Amino acid sequence: MSSNYLRIIPDIPDWVPDESTAEQLALIAGELFAKRSSEVTAGDRGEVGFVDQGAWFESVSCPGCGAPIDDSWWQDRMDAAAETGFTDLSVRTECCGVATTLNDLVYRLPAGFARYVIEVRELDKTYADEEEMATLQRAAGRPLRQIAARY
Ligand SMILES: [Zn+2]
Repeated sequence: MSSNYLRIIPDIPDWVPDESTAEQLALIAGELFAKRSSEVTAGDRGEVGFVDQGAWFESVSCPGCGAPIDDSWWQDRMDAAAETGFTDLSVRTECCGVATTLNDLVYRLPAGFARYVIEVRELDKTYADEEEMATLQRAAGRPLRQIAARY
């Protein structure tokens, strides 16, 4: 049986909330999603990891020129970044030579990198709405991104 996940992550991969912000975020995420999902967790995973989209992976493309990015090129860069514990995500694309990061490539559906993750399992919709995101972003004090995944 497959499961759907919505993961809400900060715009900066290694950002983690301070203690009171973390408490607020966990409380708000519970209020927003607990009744409409099977499980809500929020926390610091201890290190930056790739927050993927599972079966919803379609493509990766260049943020500079939009050209599709070769799977093996991407995998090599992921392996190299993993060796740094994903602390160094910088890459230069082959197509147009733009200096960017693995976190800023254009993933379809969206994916990203994070250490702090709010995870909602089996929410009754794929993505949170604008108002829910605004509430969480106010508590976090920074922009957040939504990554939906299916496994
Ligand atoms: Zn390019």
